[in-house]
Amino acid sequence: MRLRNKPWAKERLQNYPQYVIGNPEDWKGKWHELFQNEHPIHIEIGTGKGKFITEMAKKYPNVNFIGIEAYTSVIVSALDRLIEAELPNVKLLNINALQLESIFTDGEISRIYLNFSDPWPKNRHEKRRLTHHNFLQKYQHILKKDGQIHFKTDNEKLFEYSLVSFSTFGMILHDVILDLHHSDYDGNVMTEYEEKFSAKGNRIFRCEVSFMK
Ligand code: SAM
Repeated sequence: MRLRNKPWAKERLQNYPQYVIGNPEDWKGKWHELFQNEHPIHIEIGTGKGKFITEMAKKYPNVNFIGIEAYTSVIVSALDRLIEAELPNVKLLNINALQLESIFTDGEISRIYLNFSDPWPKNRHEKRRLTHHNFLQKYQHILKKDGQIHFKTDNEKLFEYSLVSFSTFGMILHDVILDLHHSDYDGNVMTEYEEKFSAKGNRIFRCEVSFMK
């Protein structure tokens, strides 16, 4: 992701508290109160410019979505999409996923989406990969017992690494797809990176994973 310095972005996020939750720790265990319904909560980690989460929220009005993105200069584009779409079932958090457990209580989340996560190819950066076991531990706490992780990427090495990481953690793999766009998988919603990389001819890998009950 090319990062442009946008000094105004922080203030813009603060101007839309109905979409960007500035004090997410205060809602730990109470996210349903914020959404004012009991619908399941799905989070996307590394939501980028918000194409996926906005389209998903339109498609599934009975699901609450939370997009998590570390970079202010990136999430501000997701905010622009939300303002235009006026969706009541999406919130954005400008935080690092390392903080997940101070934001959500045990079993509060029904599904986690990881879309085109940064591959961090160098071994010394392994801990930054969102499928590293340190992150899986956090996901296990915040996910409901029957909750799932839906992961897709065009990076074969990251996909292989993640399958090993999931298996080593004792997770159950479902629906591993090695070429999503030429599979019979129905209802795929494309992300920004997915559009870009599939247009270049890259294969898209996808899997669904859950923790042992
Ligand atoms: N999901 C989008 C897509 O598919 O178009 C964006 C993909 S981009 C390669 C990965 C995004 O994840 C970046 O915007 C990055 O800032 C964000 N990210 C990476 N690690 C993160 C973390 N630990 N917490 C929050 N966001 C993170």
